[in-house]
Amino acid sequence: MGYHEIKRPRAGALRRGGFVYKFSFSFILFLICHIIFIFYFGSCTQKVNLSRAEFVLGTNCVVSLFENANVQVLKDVFVRLREIDNLMSVNIPASDVSRINAAAGVESVKVNEDVFELIAMAVYFAEISGGAFDPTIGPIVNLWGFNNNPSVPLQEEIDAVLKLVNWTDIVLDSDSTTVFLKKPGMALDLGAIAKGYAADETAKIITNAGINRAIVNLGGNIVVIGKNKDDRPWRVGIQDPNGERGSYIEVVEVSTNDSYMSVVTSGAYERFFEQDGKRYHHIFSPSTGYPVKNELLSVTIIAPNSMYADALSTAVFVMGYEIGLELIESIEGIEAVFVFEDGVITKF
Ligand code: FAD
Ligand code: MG
Repeated sequence: MGYHEIKRPRAGALRRGGFVYKFSFSFILFLICHIIFIFYFGSCTQKVNLSRAEFVLGTNCVVSLFENANVQVLKDVFVRLREIDNLMSVNIPASDVSRINAAAGVESVKVNEDVFELIAMAVYFAEISGGAFDPTIGPIVNLWGFNNNPSVPLQEEIDAVLKLVNWTDIVLDSDSTTVFLKKPGMALDLGAIAKGYAADETAKIITNAGINRAIVNLGGNIVVIGKNKDDRPWRVGIQDPNGERGSYIEVVEVSTNDSYMSVVTSGAYERFFEQDGKRYHHIFSPSTGYPVKNELLSVTIIAPNSMYADALSTAVFVMGYEIGLELIESIEGIEAVFVFEDGVITKF
């Protein structure tokens, strides 16, 4: 894989404001940006056959089909996305993940096979990242209030809750597809991997329907399917961490080899709040319980599988540039783009 470094001027001042998920405004803005995205980066001459946008998985999901489009495929996609949401969301009390969390320290819980497989993959990524990616981060996410009203907790609260964050305390039984969290108060959070899984499921539905040209965007988890017009690579914009949503700091060219590829970014800019003039984002160090602070603003992974790209972008963001790079280099067929605080962009 090639290497080059591009020195960029530092972009404008950091965005101000509170918690970033303001549904109606951001959704409309997102739709506008998505249209810009397709026409500028999908290829200026491509015609969108059919496109549908819905709010699922706590984010804006847009599926655009460029040929052989039919409404049923879009329906099937959003039925599947809602199914995944209902199984894996921590915000839905009856989901498999919520049931596992409610039974932490008490009993093992029988879950859907897909949920079981995804948790097993999350454990795999925890292992290969040395625990930087940890699906038991739930109690820390909840303590900081990222699912409702965020604020900076007391150090004693963080210390108490950190004892519950440990992926080796997940017990998986593949024969019975049951999951057990050893300690009461533990909680799974699949927010860093499930959107990728959902994007792979979406790509499967689209390709199985014989559609050879499409783009999926599940809140920043991008999948490009098949060939771009004139057999050219797709061009996917990487969000400028310091810019407005939809402004790109870099554009990567992605070839799919007739199948699909995914481009996923994890960054400090995606979800955050400000308190006493300081910014706190949603990706946590499982060893300190604080939002990760290193020289990185974002990590983008380009891979033939969106679940891999999702998990690895979060893992590498937590690991930091040097150790993260070692992990990337140990995996065949993936590329990465690092955006640093000083504006430098590095690609592998
Ligand atoms: P990523 O880097 O991919 O993931 C960051 C997220 O992973 C954090 O938000 C946290 O949840 C978790 N995390 C933090 N640190 C770590 C770590 N060290 N290791 C592993 N995981 C970590 N959001 C809502 O506001 N409302 C909803 O109803 C809602 N429902 C959802 C349902 C599902 C099934 C999923 C998957 C997500 C849902 N979300 C919801 C969350 C939402 O869309 C998140 O913003 C998203 O999953 C985070 O993705 P990202 O690409 O921004 O960042
Ligand atoms: Mg992720």
